[in-house]
Amino acid sequence: MEDIYDKVNADYYKPAPRPTPPAKKCPKCNASFGLSFRSGIPNFCSICGTELNKYYSDLYSSYKKELKNHNTISRKLEMDFERDAKAYAGITDHPKADRCFSLAWEYGHSDGLSSVLDYLDELSELL
Ligand SMILES: [Zn+2]
Repeated sequence: MEDIYDKVNADYYKPAPRPTPPAKKCPKCNASFGLSFRSGIPNFCSICGTELNKYYSDLYSSYKKELKNHNTISRKLEMDFERDAKAYAGITDHPKADRCFSLAWEYGHSDGLSSVLDYLDELSELL
């Protein structure tokens, strides 16, 4: 089995960057437009008159699709990591494996996945 630390170091479990919402700028004159709570996207650019509402709605719905896809992939990578980490620690079938993993995640996640593995390694000895 490939060493899980190698996979972590190679960013195997790291998702692509989160998509960013589309810029609120007119496609023709590049003027910024605001979003008002009451009226949403303005129908037309106040500078050049270009139609904005549909333009922005289309961009925004493809952004939402990308975001959903991104979240699905991120979640899958997290689940892959959890499965591989439990296997690495030899606790896959242990009744307290989930609790052990979530503690290791809580302690180590802010320092990266290899830190989660370090904690999991130590904590799993208690099982
Ligand atoms: Zn414009």
